[in-house]
Amino acid sequence: MVPTGDGSAVSVPDDGAKPTGPAVVTGNGINYNGGPVLKGNPVPIYVIWYGNWNGTGSNTQATVSLIDTFLSSLGNTPYELINSTYGDTTGNVSGNLTLTAQVFDTGSQGTRLRNSRISAAISAQLTSGALPTDPNGVYLFVTSSDVRESGFCTQFCGFHTRQTLNGADIKWAFIGNTDRCPSACEIQSTGPNSPSTGVGGADGMVNVITHESEEAITDPDLNAWFDSSGNEDADKCNFKFGPTQTAANGSKFNQTFGGHNWMMQMEWENSRGGGCDQTLGGPFFTN
Ligand SMILES: [Zn+2]
Repeated sequence: MVPTGDGSAVSVPDDGAKPTGPAVVTGNGINYNGGPVLKGNPVPIYVIWYGNWNGTGSNTQATVSLIDTFLSSLGNTPYELINSTYGDTTGNVSGNLTLTAQVFDTGSQGTRLRNSRISAAISAQLTSGALPTDPNGVYLFVTSSDVRESGFCTQFCGFHTRQTLNGADIKWAFIGNTDRCPSACEIQSTGPNSPSTGVGGADGMVNVITHESEEAITDPDLNAWFDSSGNEDADKCNFKFGPTQTAANGSKFNQTFGGHNWMMQMEWENSRGGGCDQTLGGPFFTN
């Protein structure tokens, strides 16, 4: 089974629209469809940790801490700067993002989710003021592995969307703990940050977070950047990692920053004809 990484592929056909303005570069295998990108420097990232994050395996505070470190060090890396090749008519994506706030929800909507329940859970955080209502940020809804979400593990490993919540255009992404289905959503069941063999959920989620956060920034309202098949920038490199190195525990990794090794899919660079690479301006790889 090959993971798709995303269940919300945009199916809007390419209408051939040619945007104007110096910040939009086209002709690199991905099309601009007229909508805005997120241009924050940094783009604020908000996390809702849903379910039981004081459990076992990868459902632990160690995973929370690791992903916090990841989100606090990803901004402006040579990898994330690939995102800065995308823009709209008023400017470019910065390539910077940062963890701005996070909350825990131990299960206000139960353990069998569908999108309407995720919306309700996020909305509750906004209306209570626990998280700011920020149309320029990205909200990651991250679930522990005991939580079901319709389509997760069978149709997608994560997805992003937009929705009016608390009166604002809110961009949110679902990130399920990939240890619910390692064979479907993890490139390797033991990752470079695994606490023990076969507990790869934290690294698996890091990979999905890169995918969904890139897309939420370059295609926040699902009307900016995607190709004629509806593939957004990360879809075009889905589960393609490029060259790797081997960590002490035998796992593969292809990035190092924030004091850790990471295994993250490549992103489509919107320049030099377009291609998947690990760093802005680096060589393109097909797998
Ligand atoms: Zn995607």
